Amino acid sequence: MILMKNTTGKRIWIVKNDSQKTAVIAAELEQLCRAAGFVFDEENPEIVISVGGDGTLLTAFHDYERQLKTVRFIGVHTGHLGFYADFQEHELEQVIETIVHEKPSQAFKYPLLKVQIKFTDGRVKTHLALNESIIRRASKTLVADVKISDFLFEKFRGDGLAVSTPTGSTAYNKSIGGAVMHPRVRAFQVTEVASLNNLIYRTLGAAMIIAEKDTVAFDLENADDYLLTVDQLEYFYDRIASVTYSLDGGEIAFVNGGHTGFWHRVKNSFIGEVK
Ligand code: NAD
Repeated sequence: MILMKNTTGKRIWIVKNDSQKTAVIAAELEQLCRAAGFVFDEENPEIVISVGGDGTLLTAFHDYERQLKTVRFIGVHTGHLGFYADFQEHELEQVIETIVHEKPSQAFKYPLLKVQIKFTDGRVKTHLALNESIIRRASKTLVADVKISDFLFEKFRGDGLAVSTPTGSTAYNKSIGGAVMHPRVRAFQVTEVASLNNLIYRTLGAAMIIAEKDTVAFDLENADDYLLTVDQLEYFYDRIASVTYSLDGGEIAFVNGGHTGFWHRVKNSFIGEVK
């Protein structure tokens, strides 16, 4: 049952998607949070509760990506089972209990991808990705020199290249043939999007698992129609010279508690009952 008022004073914020179902669940959750004595603080929360799907958690992450040292996340899903949102709508009291009892030192932490874009005029821009970042061109062939820690590995030609974190390996990465990685594996992954392979052009044609300390850079041909995605965000940048990826983007912290084991989540999401 719900705890007495003013027992914790933890600073929280709820980020939700705009579905009607979510609105109902978020309103109920808000009441329970107030009854538990949590303080609503949009500017400086300790805990951000996302209510919706994985996309909502990604939105919450990007909303607070500059405060990752002080913010921990917890997700409630209001649709089908989520990877980042593993509490269900009938478990709201458990969510409250979990937040009351969680400790920052026990949070689950997962690495983030640093995405560094160098422009032809020398400017540099940095993004953080929780799932993945993809570089692609609108319709023409993307041509890139692929370098692994400055070692020229291949010349890629195709639609694009996706780079994913361990936790993002079950998202877009999996759909394009990448490997599913346990999030405790400290590595990241490069996966091809529709590479050209014929008598003239050759790429590895397989997903590559990159060691934690290495970087991967794509030196790009001069073109003005690149699309760079960072999770659900899209950037139409002109004059990109290169994009460099590394796993030193810091970490995202999840509240410890109620977490379904990774391989259980994979099975529940993609396999179901084994008959
Ligand atoms: P969304 O919640 O609609 O996400 C789209 C789907 O991707 C949902 O089924 C969601 O559960 C799943 N998903 C997201 N992150 C996941 C993860 N880490 N592991 C397993 N499944 C995951 O919201 P959105 O704003 O479209 O989310 C953007 C993310 O969706 C992207 O980062 C991308 O990974 C994923 N996505 C996947 C595909 C695909 O697989 N073909 C296409 C578009 C987007």
